[in-house]
Formats: sequence, structure tokens, C-alpha cells
Amino acid sequence: MTEIDELYDKKVGCPICNMEFESKKVRASRLRLIKRDEDFLSYYEGENPLKYNIFLCPNCGYAATEGKFNSVTKEEKEIVLKEITSKWNKRSYGGKRTVDEAIITYKLALYIGQLLDYKKIDLGSLCLSLAWLYRIKGEEDEEKRFLILTRNFYEEGFHGESLIDTNMDELKLSYLIGEINRRLGEKDEAVKWFNTALSNPNINSNLMLEKMVREQWRLAREG
Ligand SMILES: [Zn+2]
Repeated sequence: MTEIDELYDKKVGCPICNMEFESKKVRASRLRLIKRDEDFLSYYEGENPLKYNIFLCPNCGYAATEGKFNSVTKEEKEIVLKEITSKWNKRSYGGKRTVDEAIITYKLALYIGQLLDYKKIDLGSLCLSLAWLYRIKGEEDEEKRFLILTRNFYEEGFHGESLIDTNMDELKLSYLIGEINRRLGEKDEAVKWFNTALSNPNINSNLMLEKMVREQWRLAREG
């Protein structure tokens, strides 16, 4: 049997400089889930697709998640050209990535997300991915630093933003804020947010999440 590489090259067109480049992705058919943490970090037998979520143009330095990569306005393009491209030393992250290289791509995407005034929820999700990569590396201090940033962005987003056009709904978001607080040792805050999740009218239609909320609520109360 021929061994097929678990990674493949995806052709990407850059909306800033129009260059075409390749970025690796993990073949969905090759994914073998080992386990999932309660804040949704998934572990796989081979490559983790988390490492390949950011497309980074080697020519101009523009970086964003696959889902956001192409939605750039004319004004945003000007900001990227001025703040990123003018200082960019051309280099590629289009091959197989180490965890450290993946971290570099997310940090650049986070920096660009702040320049382009992304929604807090989207900035929070980039920070959560960074916390996960540091967890995979075993660097607890950096993981904690990015969990705190995630929680702060998510709380601001929960109170001040519409969740339309994000990958998040109120139920999942309140659960995640609770779980991140629990991981940070903020037990009272965790219980408060798990209660918010439990009082969400959609909780009854999501049995898996309801079970997780109740289990983590119990852990926070006991811990
Ligand atoms: Zn480019």
C-alpha cells in the first residue's frame, strides 16, 4: 500500500499583493482523533490541523485564518501594505510547520487582526489557538498568558458585540469563558459563566454541551 502524505498543498491567492502561493493542509481523511480537552483543543495521531489554519503570504506578509483571508476591504489593504508589507522580510511558512512556526503565523495574524479591528470574538479565538499551541509545547506560562487574553476578549465580545459572522454562539461562548476561567483558577467566575450557559434556552438542544457544562460546573464547585 502506498503511503499517502497526510499533508497536501493548497493554492492560495493573496488579496493584498495578488501573488499565488501554496500552504499545507492536513487531509481530513487522515485525521485520527486521540482526545479532546474541555476547551475543545483536539489531539490527533499525526499532524494537528491547528498548525495549518493560518495562511501567510510569503511575498507581502499578510496572514489570516483561511475563513477570513479573502475578506479585505480597500482600506484594510492599505493598512496591511503600510504596516506589514513595508517591514516584511520575504520568507515562507508554506511547508510542514513546527509548533514554533505555527505560533509565529498566529501571532502575525493576531497582530494584523488588531490593526484591522477584528471583532473581539475573532481576536479571542486567535489567542485561544495560541494558548493551545503553547499547551502542546508544554509552556504553561505562555499558555496562561494567552488564556487570560482569550477570556478578556471573549468577555468583551459577549457583552458588547453581535456574534453574527463569527464561529460562535452565546451558549458555546458562555461555556468556553467558564471553562477558561476554571483553568485559570477563577472558580467563582467559572461557576457564574457555567450558570449563564445552563440558563441559555438552547442548552436542551445540545446534549453533549449540556453534559460538559454540568461536569465542568461540578469540577469548579468541588475544586
Ligand atoms: Zn501577499
